[in-house]
Amino acid sequence: MNGIYWFRKALRLHDNPALSEAVEKCETLFPLFILDPSIRSFVKVGANRWRFLVQSLQDLDRSLREANLRLIVIRGTPKDLMPKLIDKWKINLIAYEMDTEPFAIKRDQEIDQIANKLKVELIKRVSHTLYDPNDILRNSASKSTPFTYQGFLTTLSKMGSLSPPLPVPDFSHLHPIEKYLKNEPCELPTLEELGIKESECGPCLFPGGETEAIKRMEQTLSDHKWVVSFAKPNTSPNSLKPSTTVLSPYLKFGCLSCRRLYFKLKEIESKSSKCTQPPVSLVGQLLWREFFYANAALTPNFDKMVGNPICKQIEWDKNDEHLKAWKEGRTGYPFIDAIMIQLKTEGWIHHLARHAVACFLTRGDLWISWEDGLKVFEEYLLDADWSLNAGNWLWLSASAFFHQYFRVYSPISFGKKTDPNGDFIRKYIPVLRRFPKEHIYEPWKAPKFVQQNCKCLIGVDYPKPIVDHETVRKINLSKMAKAYANNKAESIVEETGDVLMSP
Ligand code: FAD
Repeated sequence: MNGIYWFRKALRLHDNPALSEAVEKCETLFPLFILDPSIRSFVKVGANRWRFLVQSLQDLDRSLREANLRLIVIRGTPKDLMPKLIDKWKINLIAYEMDTEPFAIKRDQEIDQIANKLKVELIKRVSHTLYDPNDILRNSASKSTPFTYQGFLTTLSKMGSLSPPLPVPDFSHLHPIEKYLKNEPCELPTLEELGIKESECGPCLFPGGETEAIKRMEQTLSDHKWVVSFAKPNTSPNSLKPSTTVLSPYLKFGCLSCRRLYFKLKEIESKSSKCTQPPVSLVGQLLWREFFYANAALTPNFDKMVGNPICKQIEWDKNDEHLKAWKEGRTGYPFIDAIMIQLKTEGWIHHLARHAVACFLTRGDLWISWEDGLKVFEEYLLDADWSLNAGNWLWLSASAFFHQYFRVYSPISFGKKTDPNGDFIRKYIPVLRRFPKEHIYEPWKAPKFVQQNCKCLIGVDYPKPIVDHETVRKINLSKMAKAYANNKAESIVEETGDVLMSP
C-alpha cells in the first residue's frame, strides 16, 4: 500500500496515532507538508513564528532521514495538489491528525471528498488534544457550551482514562521514496523564500522542533519538586527567566504531544505524596487547554464578537492611535510597554503578562475590542493558537467565561508585586534603566531633575501615559455595567477559586 502522511500540526514522530497507523499499513509512505500560500490571507504570521516553523520542519526532516525517509514539502493549495499526488505516487491511503479550527475543517472536508471519490482510504485521529471535543459534549450534562471549568472536569472524570502515548513508529520496513521525487521541487522552505529577513527575527530563545520540545520538557520537568508545587497564580509575569514551562509553542505546532506531557506530569505527581491540583497545577494548565479547545470547537464564530452566542456584545471604541501605541509598546506605562516589547521581539510572554496587557487594551484602560488584541497576539506569538487565543481574549475582556469585570489589573502595582526593582522594565526599555525603583513604574511622576539625571525626559525620550488609568478605569467600569445590563445572556459563575488568576 502507498500512503501519504500529511503533516500540518503534529510536527512530530512520537505519539502521532495517524502516522503510526499509516506506517503499519503501508509499504511506501510519503511524509508530506504542504506550504499553502493562501494561508497568509487568513492568518498573520510574524517573523519569529515563521522561523519556528522552518526550524520544526528541518528537525522533522532530520529525524525522517535517520529512518531513510525525508520530509517532502510541496507548494500549493491542498485541494489542487492532492489529486495530482494521488495519481503520481499511486496513493491508496492518506493519514492526518484531526484539526478543529474552522479553516482546517473546510480544508480537510475538501481532501476527504477527493479521497472518497478516488477510493483512497483515510486515517484521521485526534491527537492535538487529549480528548475529542465532540466526545466531551456527548458526555457533558449540560450538552451545550460554554462549559465551566469545574463542570468540564466533572465531564472528563466520566470519560475514562486516557491511553498512554505511542512511541516513534518503526519505519524499517518502508521502501525508499527517492525515486518518486526526481524532478519534484520538494525542498524545505527557507526564511528567504517566505519573504523573511533574519534581521526581522528576535533572539532565538525557543528554537522549533520535536527534538527541542522533548529536550525542553525533560529539562523543565526534571525538578520534580517544582512540578508538584507548581501553582500558576504564584508564578511571575515579569521574571527574567520564565517562571512557567514555555512548552506552548511546541504544543501549538504539535512538536510535543500533549498526551506525552500529560503522562509525564502524572508520573511525576504519582511519586509525590502531595501535589497542587487543577486549576492551578501543571496538569490543570493542560486541562485549561482542553477546556478552551472544546469550547472553541463547539461554538460558532468563537474568534468574533458578532455571531458568537457566548460573547457579550459590547460597543468597543475604534482608536487606531491607541491600538498602535499598545502594539508597539508606547503607552507610557512601562510595565505594559515592556511586556509588549518582549512579545514583539521574543514571541513569548507569561500568562499573567498576557492578562495585564489584554485587560489594559480592553475593559481596563483603552476600551478597544479584544478582536484587535487577538490579531496582534496572532501575529507575534510563537504559540498563537486559534482556539486558545480567542478563548483567553474572551475571558480577559470579560466577554465570556469570566464576568467579574470590576476586577481590573493595575498597570502600575501589578508588576511591582513580583519585580519591585523593575528589572524586567530595565531589560526591555533600556531608556528607563537609570530610573530609581521608586519611579520606574511611574516615570512621569519623577521630578524633572531625576528625569534629567536618568537621561530620559518623559514626553521626549519615553512617552507620557496615553490615558490616566484611574480616570479611564472608572469610566470603563460604568460602560461595562451598562454593556452587561444590555446583554440578556446569563452570567456564568466560574468556580475556580481566585478567578482573576484563573486560567
Ligand atoms: P504553562 O503554565 O507551563 O502551561 C503548560 C501548558 O498548558 C501551556 O503550554 C499551554 O498549552 C497550556 N495552558 C496554560 N495556560 C493556558 C490557558 N490559559 N489556556 C489554554 N491553555 C493553557 N496560549 C497559547 O498556547 N496560544 C495562544 O494563542 C494563547 N493566547 C492567549 C491570549 C491571552 C489574552 C491570554 C491571557 C492567554 C493566552 N494563552 C495562549 C494561554 C497562556 O497564556 C499560554 O498557554 C501560556 O502562557 C504558555 O506558557 P507556558 O507554556 O509556559 O505555560
